[in-house]
Amino acid sequence: MRRLTILGSTGSIGVSTLDVVARNPDDFEVLALTARSRLDFLHEQCLRFRPRYAVIAGETDGADLQGRLRAAGCPTEVLCGIQALEQVAALPEIDTVMAAIVGIAGLRPTLAAARAGKRVLLANKEALVTAGGVLMAAVRDSGAELLPIDSEHNAIFQCLPQGGSGGMVASGVRRILLTASGGPFRATPLARLAAVTPEQAVAHPNWSMGRKISVDSATMMNKGLEVIEAHWLFGAAPGMIEVVVHPQSVVHSLVEYEDGSVLAQLGNPDMRTPIAHALAYPRRMPSGAAFLELASVGQLQFEAVDNGRFPCLRLAYEALRSGPASVIALNAANEVAVEAFLDRRIGYLDIASVIESVLGRSPGATVSVLEDVERCDTQARRLAWDEVAVRRPAGAMS
Ligand code: NAD
Ligand code: MG
Repeated sequence: MRRLTILGSTGSIGVSTLDVVARNPDDFEVLALTARSRLDFLHEQCLRFRPRYAVIAGETDGADLQGRLRAAGCPTEVLCGIQALEQVAALPEIDTVMAAIVGIAGLRPTLAAARAGKRVLLANKEALVTAGGVLMAAVRDSGAELLPIDSEHNAIFQCLPQGGSGGMVASGVRRILLTASGGPFRATPLARLAAVTPEQAVAHPNWSMGRKISVDSATMMNKGLEVIEAHWLFGAAPGMIEVVVHPQSVVHSLVEYEDGSVLAQLGNPDMRTPIAHALAYPRRMPSGAAFLELASVGQLQFEAVDNGRFPCLRLAYEALRSGPASVIALNAANEVAVEAFLDRRIGYLDIASVIESVLGRSPGATVSVLEDVERCDTQARRLAWDEVAVRRPAGAMS
């Protein structure tokens, strides 16, 4: 029996995790659920899974939720705020934490889970992107286990030699190949990109996901963040990590070895597969995902990335080569730009231009502890909001 905390239980990954847990009720017990908003939904999840704790961001929401749960005879204790997130991520009674908050907001609780030596199922890629050094050191020092949920990294993890030591090169790995669907604008004429709307950007062709990662997939910043994530998870130099476009999202990623062998992991695009893999690791268990029928897939296509269409991927590689302060600025500027785009304050093409401007204006800094990460993040966010302010919404009158 594994005991779980699910950070971000009301999101896309949180809901898929609870679905997998519900299919394997003898193997898992949920001790804590957390959400920023969507009070009704969190209430429903508490009634169904009866966790010991539920964490919600605001005090008023917390009091409201606690009252409703008591009235329904549910024993869940409601806690509020960021410290409560860190508390439930490090509970002595749990062994596993699903880190599925979106953005750098998930960093402190994810780090708390790592420091407490938990099995951390990492969906919250922004935590590793911004604080790779700090998080990996915490995992090493505490003996925590970090298992990737991102489908690409979960695939790579499955294709790498198990229990290998001495790093990628010693294991005979030549390259990591991350697949990218190309998102909703892979074939949109470039001249039309300036006018695409948030609704078009979040309509991913293969995956149903939260709004932020959906926009990241459209711009391919998601793949850029994943290159950085792969760098930290697998100790791979930037030059060993390549991206190939694969519109069907059936091959989730590949590892190439020195002898010419290429190992891939395939499956239908359904996050319940990597979630079930990491929850049960090293065993296997049912996930609810449909089994892959290759004959009905028919064809698998692969193509090179069009760099002119996806400048965010280039910016991510540049930031990774330039160092941790640049990577933090890249992520912060992207979080701000995506939020501004979703609020229709800037156009789609402004996302990359805001990030590029912020990277150009960010001073280099030494990053060795969490506070350094947060200071760089705050500075870059300020610069990014300045950049947003000087741009106009798409379609605005000049
Ligand atoms: P989502 O927006 O659907 O859900 C986010 C969850 O985090 C919600 O429960 C929300 O309440 C909570 N949250 C948001 N901001 C918060 C804050 N400031 N404080 C506390 N809680 C907060 O996002 P998602 O699509 O489930 O993605 C979650 C993470 O997993 C992201 O980092 C994303 O990149 C990664 N990921 C998602 C998918 C996917 O298929 N959805 C695939 C790979 C990786
Ligand atoms: Mg992914």
